[in-house]
This record gives sequence, C-alpha cells and structure tokens, in this order.
Amino acid sequence: MADDARARQALSSGVTLSCVIPCLNEAQNLRVLIPELITLFGSLVASYEIIVVDDGSTDETPQVMADLAAGEPALVYVQLSRNFGKEAALTAGIEAAHGDVVVCMDADMQHPPSLIPVMLERWRHGIEMVYAVRADRHDETLFKRLGTRLFYRLMRTSGGLEVPPNAGDFRLMDRRVVQALLELPERDRFMKGLFAWVGFQSEPIYYDPPSRLHGVSRFKPLRLFRLAVDGLTAFTTWPLRIMSVAGLLLSLASFTYGLIIVFSHLLWGDPVQGWTTLITVILFFAGVQLIAVGVLGEYISRIFSEVKQRPVYLVRLRRGAGLKPVRVLR
Ligand code: UDP
Ligand code: MG
Repeated sequence: MADDARARQALSSGVTLSCVIPCLNEAQNLRVLIPELITLFGSLVASYEIIVVDDGSTDETPQVMADLAAGEPALVYVQLSRNFGKEAALTAGIEAAHGDVVVCMDADMQHPPSLIPVMLERWRHGIEMVYAVRADRHDETLFKRLGTRLFYRLMRTSGGLEVPPNAGDFRLMDRRVVQALLELPERDRFMKGLFAWVGFQSEPIYYDPPSRLHGVSRFKPLRLFRLAVDGLTAFTTWPLRIMSVAGLLLSLASFTYGLIIVFSHLLWGDPVQGWTTLITVILFFAGVQLIAVGVLGEYISRIFSEVKQRPVYLVRLRRGAGLKPVRVLR
C-alpha cells in the first residue's frame, strides 16, 4: 500500500487538483465522502482543494461543512443563495476551481473516489478529459432506461453532438478544458452537452455505480424530461426543421386532396358529405399546429432566458482558502 501511494505520488508530483461537488441536502453523505477524499488526495497530488457547492440545502450541510473545515484550508464551501439546480452548481464549482485538473463528482457516493487515481493516470498520458461511464443501468426502471436511450439517440440525430451515452458528470478535466467551458457564455448550462461540445482528447472509463448511500435521487422522471428538453433545444435544431418539412408535406397532401374534391364536385356534382372526415381533419391539424407552436415555444423560451442575461447562480457565502486565497463574498 505504501509503495502504491509512493508510486502514485511520483506519477502525479506537482499536480494541483480541484474536486468539485455540487450538493443538495447531502449532509450525511458529505460526512463520509469528504474524509475519504482528503485521505485519498493527500497521497495522490501535490496540492488539492475540495469545493463543495451547496445548492440551497435545507439540512445541516452548512454545519457539517463548518465542522469538517476545521483545520482543513483545502476545503472550500460555496453556498449558493438558493437552489439553482445541479448544472448551475457545477458551473459555480468549476468557476471557483484553481487546479491543473478539475474533477467533478456527486456527493452521494455513487461516484467512487477510487476511480480518481485511474482518471489521473489517463490524464498523465495526455488525455484531457476522462469521463466515467456506467457499465450498466440495471438498477433503473425500464421506463428510465428507454427514455435515456431515446434521448441519446435524438441527441445524435442530424449531426447533433456526440454525447457519450451513460456518461454522467463524474469526470476529470484538464485546465484547458475547464478554460474552454468557462468561455462558453450561455446561461442554460446543460453540462453533458457542453462537455461534449468543447471536444479535446476524451476517453471513457467504465464502472458499476453503487447505489446512493443516504437519501433519494432528486432527478424524478418529470425533472429528467425537462433536462432532456433543455439538452435537445440547446444542442439541436432538427425539431424546427422537422416542423418545416412536416408542414410542407402536409400542405402538399392537403392541396392534392383539395384538387381531387373540387374536380369530383365539378365533374360529377358530388354532394357535400363527410362530417366525420371534416372534424377529424380539423382536430388533427389543430393538434399538429399546437405541437409546432410548442416546439417553437421551447426555443423561444431559451432565447428569452439568454437575453435576460441573469447570472447563472448567486453566491451567498464562501469559506475556505482552497489552493489560492479567495475573497470572502459575505
Ligand atoms: N444536486 C444539486 N442540485 C440539485 C439536485 C441535485 O446540487 O438541484 C446534486 C446532488 O446533491 C448530488 C448530485 O447533484 O450530489 C446528483 O444528484 P442525484 O444523486 O439526486 O442524481 P442521480 O444520481 O439520481 O442522477
Ligand atoms: Mg445520485
């Protein structure tokens, strides 16, 4: 074990590492995770900081962090002014990080710290982004698995981004990747998409996710659906194109059908008939138009949130020196 630690230290000497952990009501998990990370990083890198971004927790997270921070300047606590969502919390953490490499992970122990040395080694070999991919999703419901599959398929359609399926936010990034992410100006930050968009040399590593240590997942089906729509509208435009193409095809079909009816009326004098057909057609097209307006609305709501130019998150309080002294924003 000592040899192992020494070997790792030699491998990573001089490296500074920032570990970013967004958390919402994870006090119990943080009590386990933070000491584990401190022990791990102590033997792994030259210097490190652990940035815990409190995304509006209502449990005893602030107290737990204050206890853990005693005599531990490497522990940075960034408390957001309310719950801004995981994507915003991740952004806050990445912006606060100073390390040569930045690791993002969840607080619930579903992202095993033991993978970090493996990621670091890949980074040592020149890989700029190492992301963890769940080897299987059998712990999830069939509904969620099918939904996820459909989402990744839709993301890939028509030259969309190559977002690696089943890769979460557990990843290690080189400073250059982090810099690129920070330069992206958008406010709706679908991180999985942004990670893929910036590119760089990326490599997956596979793992079997353990189940959550304490608490329950915050990503219920409806929230996942919302996230999927955010991702699709942020990174693809094919839904808009489908609407134009569908509109064109339907107009052509309607025009042809109209011609047939007019001619049959003129030539054979068919009496007006078909109330059923009429109602079906009216309702069908009303539905199609509402869907089209809805799709447009999704894009417009994104434009709306971008033009408002509100900050992605607000910091209420910040504690801990981290790698470099930081300003206290109280
Ligand atoms: N999280 C967050 N803000 C939120 C929801 C979740 O910071 O609004 C954090 C949460 O504390 C955890 C991570 O994001 O550290 C992943 O959340 P969760 O375990 O609920 O998601 P899942 O693992 O089911 O995808
Ligand atoms: Mg989780």
